[in-house]
Amino acid sequence: MHLKSLTLRGFKSFASATTLRFEPGITCVVGPNGSGKSNVVDALSWVMGEQGAKSLRGGKMEDVIFAGTTGRSPLGRAEVSLTIDNSDGALPIDYSEVTLTRIMFRNGGSEYQLNGDTCRLLDLQELLSDSGIGREMHVIVGQGQLDSVLHADPMGRRAFIEEAAGVLKHRKRKEKALRKLDAMQANFARVQDLTDELR
Ligand code: ATP
Repeated sequence: MHLKSLTLRGFKSFASATTLRFEPGITCVVGPNGSGKSNVVDALSWVMGEQGAKSLRGGKMEDVIFAGTTGRSPLGRAEVSLTIDNSDGALPIDYSEVTLTRIMFRNGGSEYQLNGDTCRLLDLQELLSDSGIGREMHVIVGQGQLDSVLHADPMGRRAFIEEAAGVLKHRKRKEKALRKLDAMQANFARVQDLTDELR
């Protein structure tokens, strides 16, 4: 599996559609300060489902939409598509090429697509987390992030290792199951109260 291409439209400084093609191996993005190198990395996290504006170096989520420049008006939507070569079947989906798309409108609406079909954020997150890539798998290490890993206390370091090892996904599923169990037990207690009242 490798990333084949990334297309940005109206995302941060990329007002016009811009496509970056990646070959297997190492890709370097070079450019002057402020030219948009980190915005490319932000686009990668965003299309993989990132939900935190801070992680995308913004104050609010709509900061990812092109805000305009002196010569160009702001845009009403941001769109990023990531195409992944899945010929080795690393992603649990029956396609040799998978394109993930995320669109966000300035009015707050958003949409996710998998090979052009609308899907839920959860579908996308599950697809990626099963493969070991995705938002919380630390496959994207931002500037300064290495420092926080190196200076983490033992519990923090353990959390990083657990996430990288893919334990986080199972912990989240367990928490979700426990919440459902709690709700079910509350319902059960309520039914028992009602039964007692009817006796
Ligand atoms: P450095 O080498 O200094 O880290 P960089 O190449 O990584 O820089 P980025 O941080 O990716 O640069 O890009 C910063 C630029 O993106 C700034 O000029 C900023 O104004 C622009 N930018 C960020 N968000 C938006 C937005 N929503 N609309 C328009 N431009 C934006």
